[in-house]
Amino acid sequence: ARALAEGRAWHVHQLEEEDTVDRELSLLGELDEALGKGEIQVLYQPKLDLKTGHISSVEALVRWNHGTRGFLRPDLFIPLAERNDRIAGLTLHVVGQTITDLLNWQSSGRQLTGAVNISAKLLNSAPFIADLREVVENSGISPALLTFEVTESAAMGDPAGASAALQSFRNLGIGISMDDYGTGQSTLSYLKQLPLNELKIDRSFVQFAHQNRGDGALVRSTIDLAHELGLKVVAEGVEEQACLDFLRAIGCDLAQGYLISKPVSAMELQPLLGRTYPLAA
Ligand code: C2E
Ligand code: MG
Ligand code: MG
Ligand code: MG
Repeated sequence: ARALAEGRAWHVHQLEEEDTVDRELSLLGELDEALGKGEIQVLYQPKLDLKTGHISSVEALVRWNHGTRGFLRPDLFIPLAERNDRIAGLTLHVVGQTITDLLNWQSSGRQLTGAVNISAKLLNSAPFIADLREVVENSGISPALLTFEVTESAAMGDPAGASAALQSFRNLGIGISMDDYGTGQSTLSYLKQLPLNELKIDRSFVQFAHQNRGDGALVRSTIDLAHELGLKVVAEGVEEQACLDFLRAIGCDLAQGYLISKPVSAMELQPLLGRTYPLAA
């Protein structure tokens, strides 16, 4: 009976695996069609300049408006795209859309910078860099208006390699931001070796920084050190006004989070661009 049960368990397990593989394959096929069908959309989450109270920058966050499954968040299909060599094409689509929207805002009198998330897989990809150069050059945008956000873990494995890869983006004129800082194992002294312009402190440290002494101290000292290294600092995941006020008081440059805005479409962003956000004196 035991052997039978084990056999059955194995069989069920096998079925589940096949099911997962099938689901992945069909989702992958749908992803290939999604770009052509216009289902891959870009939302923008603003970064608020804590000196002026105006939105000075946006982060592009990709969504898949799937025909039957509804809006899919990136965690669901970015890893799939990474595993199956679709991430370069997807990222170039996001970069292209972001450039188009930045140029539109520019012609309506709003000079914004735009950030795109770049997965580790694309560091050191010569074909991606070549295609990227073409997209940027053909668009006529000033590359200085673009930033790439790279996570700490992406850069950690191979510091020298990551540094060279990031430098190749910098050589195109694109800025580099370290995303989700604090969640990896790197130190600021390690980050000093990377060609960075900006540091984004992870939401997990920011969220309670105004009410938790330890988190507050961590955020404050990170800001001070980042400034010593010549980096701008963005706090992510700001959900409360008290948190925003605290961040501003300790010298944080920019803030992002649901308090300011969730990720929104280019059209929904428009009215936010004219706003002056309230900042404590
Ligand atoms: P991320 O770059 O760290 O983006 C921040 C995520 O936190 C976003 O989720 C955003 O909606 C969410 N968020 C922002 N403010 C708040 C807040 O105040 N509270 C809370 N609870 N959450 C907040 P999203 O859009 O689901 O993106 C998840 C991750 O997917 C991103 O993390 C990024 O690493 C990745 N991603 C998104 N778009 C792309 C893309 O085009 N390419 C690549 N390679 N990765 C992408
Ligand atoms: Mg990001
Ligand atoms: Mg982040
Ligand atoms: Mg984060």
